[in-house]
Amino acid sequence: DFAAVLLERDEEGRTGARLTRLADSDLMAGEVTLAVRASAVNFKDGLAVTGRLPVVRRWPMVPGIDAAGVVIASEDARWQPGDEVILTGWGVGETHLGGWSEKMRVSGDWLVRRPAALSPVEAMALGTAGVTVAEGLDRLARLGVTPADGSIVVTGAAGGVGSLAVMLLAREGWSVTAVTGRPEEAERLRRLGAVEVIGRDLFMGPVKPLGRERWAAAFDMVGSAMLAHVLSMLKPGGAAIACGNAAGMDLPASLAPFILRGVSLIGVDSVRVPKARREAIWSRLADIVDRQRLAAMTAVVDLTEAIDAGHRIVEGGIAGRMVVAIGDL
Ligand code: NAP
Repeated sequence: DFAAVLLERDEEGRTGARLTRLADSDLMAGEVTLAVRASAVNFKDGLAVTGRLPVVRRWPMVPGIDAAGVVIASEDARWQPGDEVILTGWGVGETHLGGWSEKMRVSGDWLVRRPAALSPVEAMALGTAGVTVAEGLDRLARLGVTPADGSIVVTGAAGGVGSLAVMLLAREGWSVTAVTGRPEEAERLRRLGAVEVIGRDLFMGPVKPLGRERWAAAFDMVGSAMLAHVLSMLKPGGAAIACGNAAGMDLPASLAPFILRGVSLIGVDSVRVPKARREAIWSRLADIVDRQRLAAMTAVVDLTEAIDAGHRIVEGGIAGRMVVAIGDL
C-alpha cells in the first residue's frame, strides 16, 4: 500500500480531507504506473480540499493537479520503467486520482518527459503555473503584442501563477507592473523582476467604461471587478490574458475597451493543452527559467502539511509556489 491524501464527501455534501493509505487496487485505469516524486499546491487543489467550488467530479478523490514522477510499470510502448515524467492537468485531481499520493496510474497520453535541466522539485515549482504562463506568453506573441508596445500588468502577483508570471515576463523583456494586496511582498516581487509594485486601490470602486491608458498587456489571476478595471486601462490594441478567478468567476465589464480601443481578452486553459505543445512549453520553460529565482519563490512541504496548505491558498495566504515533496527526490 502507499500514502495519499483522500477527499471524501459526507451526506451534507461537505468535503473532508485526510492522509491515509491506499491499495494498488484503488489506482484508476491507465497504462502507466508512476512513483510520484513531487506534486504542488495549486489554487484548484485548495478549491478541491475545501470544497469551495465543485472542481472534484469523482469521489473519493486524491487532490493534486500536478505531479512529477518516475515510471515503474508501463503497457504503453512510449514509456519504460525509469523514465522521468511530468503530468499537469488533464483532469488529474478533478476526475482522476491526483498527485498528492505516492503512486498514480494514468494515461500515457498525458505524460511529458521531464527535461534533464529541471529537478522534480523545480518541475513542480513550475507545474500548471508554468504551463499557464507559457501559454499566455504564446498568445501574446501570436497577437503581436510585444514589450515594444508598452508595459504589462500582473494581478494576484504575490500568488503562485502571479509570481511566476512576474519572473518569466521580466525575463522575456517586459516591463512588469505587479499588483498585490500584500505590501510585504513588494520587495520579493521587485527581486523577481517587477519594475513597479502597486496595491489594489486602483482596481476598487465602480468600473469606468474607459480609464486612463496604462498598459499594453495584462496577465490576470483574479477575475471579477479586477479584470474589468484592467480592461478599461489597456492601451489601444492591447490584450489581457485571463488566467484566474481568485476573486470570482464574474466579469462586470464594459464593451467599450473592445470596440473603442480594439482590446482583446484571451482565455488560457492549462488543463487541455495538446501534448505536442506541452513538450515545446517544457523545453522552453527549462531554457528560460532562472533556477535561483525559482527556488527563492518556492516553499516545499510534505504530504502531512499539504491539506493545511490547501486551506491557506484559497484564503490568499500562500506567497509564490508551493511544492509537495513526496517520494525519492
Ligand atoms: P494563489 O497562489 O492563491 O494566487 C492568487 C492570488 O490572487 C493571491 O495570492 C492574491 O494575490 C490574489 N487574490 C486572491 N483573492 C483576491 C481577491 N479577492 N481580490 C484580489 N486579489 C485576490 O493561486 P494560484 O495557484 O496562483 O492561482 C491563481 C488563479 O489562477 C486561480 O484562480 C487559479 O484557479 C487560476 N489558474 C488558472 C489556470 C488556467 O489554466 N487558466 C492555471 C493555473 C491557475 P495578492 O496577494 O498578490 O494580492
